[in-house]
Amino acid sequence: MKIGALEAGGTKMVMGVFQKDGTLIQQKTLPTQEPDITLPRILEFFQDQRVNALGIGSFGPLDLNADSPTYGSITSTPKLAWRNYPLVQALWAGLKIPCAIDTDVNAAVLAEATLGAARGLSSAVYVTVGTGIGGGVLVDGQLVHGLLHPEVGHILLRPHLNDPIPKGVCPYHDGCLEGLAAGPAIGARVQGDARLVLDQDPVFDIEAYYLAQMCVNLILIASPQRIILGGGVMERKALFPKVRKETVRLLSGYIQHSSILEGIEEYIVPADLFPISGLMGAYLLGRKAYEKERRV
Ligand code: ZN
Repeated sequence: MKIGALEAGGTKMVMGVFQKDGTLIQQKTLPTQEPDITLPRILEFFQDQRVNALGIGSFGPLDLNADSPTYGSITSTPKLAWRNYPLVQALWAGLKIPCAIDTDVNAAVLAEATLGAARGLSSAVYVTVGTGIGGGVLVDGQLVHGLLHPEVGHILLRPHLNDPIPKGVCPYHDGCLEGLAAGPAIGARVQGDARLVLDQDPVFDIEAYYLAQMCVNLILIASPQRIILGGGVMERKALFPKVRKETVRLLSGYIQHSSILEGIEEYIVPADLFPISGLMGAYLLGRKAYEKERRV
């Protein structure tokens, strides 16, 4: 018995094949081109691997309303060829196996809470900070969907007084998290490649200020037992102490919990499963779909 996992991203498609116990036995990456080119290649891979179920963690926004006729479609993405693309229907039609879909970041928080940095906890948040920002939210053991699904990347923040681009670079919003703190915003501030800038550069004080506002908002709204930060920008480990310190400062003692007041180092943490948190989460979604089908 094999479970397929697809982490569908705007620039690449990562495919994995897992044994039921979670051992990764095959992995392949494709560039994300137009659906007509990419979808047949995905189907071919999973058909060859003879997987029994498929879990998908996808870029979005997605329609995750199980009663909707367009369930499992990508909706308003700026990647025009994928806008309104019925991803889960296309995969199901090609493979005829149980399929389950969620956002890439909901998949990642599921994986981290099951096997990684938030193992054993029932409420956690995973945020990826890279070329974009997205967050998955798990509350009391359930992935949050609600109206659509959380869109942590576009929460509105107050600007840093020394920020040369206080409105950020998001095409939709002035002053949202992604526009202020994703890789392109750091690049715009240093007018170059953010990866080449030294840890001591004041640009990372601005970055930490924004990520700390995000942590504060997440703590106040979703009350997670841990916050996990992944993605390319968070590979810069020097950011973690700055974000923790700033989060505690901004909360100003309001949340009287030992996790914040004494244990912030274990509360805001790097992803354990990076860079395959999303792929592992897709495997868990696929395994759940397989087990559900067997029960029916
Ligand atoms: Zn935005």
